[in-house]
Amino acid sequence: MTVPATVDLKIIGGQVVTSAGIRPGLEIAVQDGKIAAIGVPPFMPAARQVIDAKGKYVLPGLVDSEAHPGCYVPFEKDLSSESWEAASVGVTSWGVHAPSTRLGAEPFQEYVQPEHVLPFSQVIDGAIEIVNRVSAVDVFLTFMLETDAQAEEIPLYAEKWGVTSHKLYLQSMRPELDKYWGGRRAGLGHGFDDGTVYLAMERTAQLGPPAIMCAHMENWQVGRIFEKRLIEAGRTDFGAWTDRSPDFAEAHHVRSYGYLAKITGCPLYVQHATTSLTYEEILKLRGEGVKVYAQTGPAWLYLTPENGWRINVPLRRRDHIEKIWEALASGVIDAVGSDHVISWDPPAREKMYDENIWKLRTGFTSRVGLLSPVMLSEGVNKGRISLERMVEVCCENPAKIFGLYPKKGALQVGSDADIVLVDLDKEVTLEKKHLFTRSGWSIAEGHTFKGWPVMTILRGNVVSQWPDDSDRPVVTREPLGEYLPRVLGQQNHPLEDRTAASERASVPAR
Ligand SMILES: [Zn+2]
Repeated sequence: MTVPATVDLKIIGGQVVTSAGIRPGLEIAVQDGKIAAIGVPPFMPAARQVIDAKGKYVLPGLVDSEAHPGCYVPFEKDLSSESWEAASVGVTSWGVHAPSTRLGAEPFQEYVQPEHVLPFSQVIDGAIEIVNRVSAVDVFLTFMLETDAQAEEIPLYAEKWGVTSHKLYLQSMRPELDKYWGGRRAGLGHGFDDGTVYLAMERTAQLGPPAIMCAHMENWQVGRIFEKRLIEAGRTDFGAWTDRSPDFAEAHHVRSYGYLAKITGCPLYVQHATTSLTYEEILKLRGEGVKVYAQTGPAWLYLTPENGWRINVPLRRRDHIEKIWEALASGVIDAVGSDHVISWDPPAREKMYDENIWKLRTGFTSRVGLLSPVMLSEGVNKGRISLERMVEVCCENPAKIFGLYPKKGALQVGSDADIVLVDLDKEVTLEKKHLFTRSGWSIAEGHTFKGWPVMTILRGNVVSQWPDDSDRPVVTREPLGEYLPRVLGQQNHPLEDRTAASERASVPAR
């Protein structure tokens, strides 16, 4: 790439953060939506627009690998509002997870039946059209599989549409048994068994990087027994939801399906790694050579059952939250994803809340809005992780794991100019006026966070900023988001040593 004498945009005066370190004084030049040069004056081009980042940190745009717009209402409706909530906190690439019934299929089925579950080849073109028309941020897709027919099409999804990640909702393999979640209402209506899991892992393994199988690990068949006992004991408090799904129910799935991943050679992504027992299983699998990656999210890093809500996997207790941070800092956990979801209409807090946990509507809102505030305030500013590690787990690692690196998740020449400016000293006591979610509320209203993203740049365009003289962030409302296809054979997973990567590079692609 030749750098013109005058570029579109230049960001000066900030401290540039990558996993390799923090570099004061570096300038970033942007041309045609990509990073054209990184360097120090006087060796940098002039620019038509200059952003002064003095006193701020300059990070890659966040790659949030898990969100569920369209889970309970039509995809277009959810994406067009919720993607602005994502943009406002620094997310520039959004990993949307959805079953085939929740990607714009019409008519929208509020309660899904087995016959509504389609091969993704019948809905993907419509979903891409919606993303390109309404999304505030770039979007990559992870298909939530339920049928053998879908599993058989995994190579087609990768080759034709660049979808290389899939997901299994292992807690909800039998939707007819879900009493307290309602998978049918969340778009899952078919159900599956270990045969489908095996087939999907086998097909994924055959593709090679960056193909990966994600899984929600939580054994609800065991949870059913605990649930019955808790109800019989008269428990209705929020902690009962945590006790219903104990730590071993999460670890049990990691061990069982980790074994299947080993047998099939399939890379595995543990969607919500939230217990010490889970971390033991992950480390054992890695020791056996299984490629296993793990994610946690802002909800589990911040909220306890008592000050939280009903979500899946459940929130863990205070003493365990420190262990999740330790696992994130030490590398047991690789990535952080928001797991953002908005309930069915009306999603207002008063409509969702009940002091009885069994009657409370599942899935509190505005989790993506907590992503960078929790990482900056609870993580970086409280000394639990470094800013460099935050960039690794929120930007670089998810981009690598999902095959987007270094187009996304990186501040490198040639990368998309997705950039976030962060003010580590900015204190925000969260109020409704700070939100862009259509639900209109956040579980963290009244909570004070120190450290906040103050500007989000998507491919060279400022899409959100918090001006110094404003009491709230401002978004442009111009939807510039694009669908992000991924390419087989072009990307590596992280955490591989160089020898393994170079060995594989000399082997012809399958
Ligand atoms: Zn999830």
